Amino acid sequence: MNNTPKKLLVTGGAGYIGSVCAARLVESGYEVVVLDDLSTGHADAVPDGCRFVEGDAAETAASLLAEGFDGVLHFAAKSLVGESMQYPAKYWNGNVLVSLQLLEAMRKHGTPRLVFSSTAAVYGQPDEVPIAESAPTRPTNTYGATKLAIDHAITSYAAAHGLAAASLRYFNVAGAYGRFGERHTTETHLIPIVLQVPAGDRQQVQIYGDDYPTEDGTCVRDYIHVTDLADAHLLALEHTTPGAHRIYNLGNGTGFSNKHVVDTCRAVTGHPIPAVTADRRGGDPAVLVASSERARTELGWKPERANLDDMVADAWAFTQSRQPA
Ligand code: UDP
Repeated sequence: MNNTPKKLLVTGGAGYIGSVCAARLVESGYEVVVLDDLSTGHADAVPDGCRFVEGDAAETAASLLAEGFDGVLHFAAKSLVGESMQYPAKYWNGNVLVSLQLLEAMRKHGTPRLVFSSTAAVYGQPDEVPIAESAPTRPTNTYGATKLAIDHAITSYAAAHGLAAASLRYFNVAGAYGRFGERHTTETHLIPIVLQVPAGDRQQVQIYGDDYPTEDGTCVRDYIHVTDLADAHLLALEHTTPGAHRIYNLGNGTGFSNKHVVDTCRAVTGHPIPAVTADRRGGDPAVLVASSERARTELGWKPERANLDDMVADAWAFTQSRQPA
């Protein structure tokens, strides 16, 4: 009997992480169908070799799944923390309701495997770092709460219906993979914002808070290269077992301060990048660092590009490639 998944549906495959993952899946020989409503994704980010369907991860996904698939990688989501606090309905509907419909369609059509994009935001303020999967889940924003709700739903589907599932809880994702990189209309993440300065799109950066209990007073985050993250999806998919929902934290286990990130961007780009200190951003924990022990031992995952310089260099090459000549 051959248990290897072959035909996969990638929701959100025209977005940043979804497109990198779809590209790696195609390179690994999978048949990939990308489903994306292009609300935040870009049609030209769909990797070559994928079939592309424009549509939502609920109804359109349901009609696609009737074709028969070996698994779903579910990236499509609303993911802006600030917006989730302002417009919760957009997140409860766009994330939770859509995912529940997707789960139901998978059950109906007998789709056996699911890999879900979860987030470190499900943990909220940690009691201790590095954060293991056993840490209490106390999300401090609506975005994290919706992702946690979906994780719970997946657990019940695995137990009741034999779904083989994995949720990957991402820490801070950075870098690019060739022509696949981060390009959000509303950019909130530190590295792409900092790179807007050497790109000529911004005068300076604001560092939110320098009085945190950390070495240099600025927040510390755990950055993972997007290709390492994508590879973890492939491993998680291949390791899923019917009736089990495994959860994996994904980071490098190393923290970099916001000041250190800005310094690295200066070194990589050769631009002075003026930075000013601003007020703390509400809800920011001082330190978020992952324990990825479980992913390493259970999946055999090992980050290949754990160096922050590499992540920034790849993100910068991507930014430059998109600038008008
Ligand atoms: N940050 C900052 N200036 C910015 C954007 C972000 O100082 O213009 C800080 C933010 O407060 C946090 C860190 O950078 O301490 C990482 O934030 P990001 O939004 O990239 O990721 P998060 O850790 O919130 O998921």
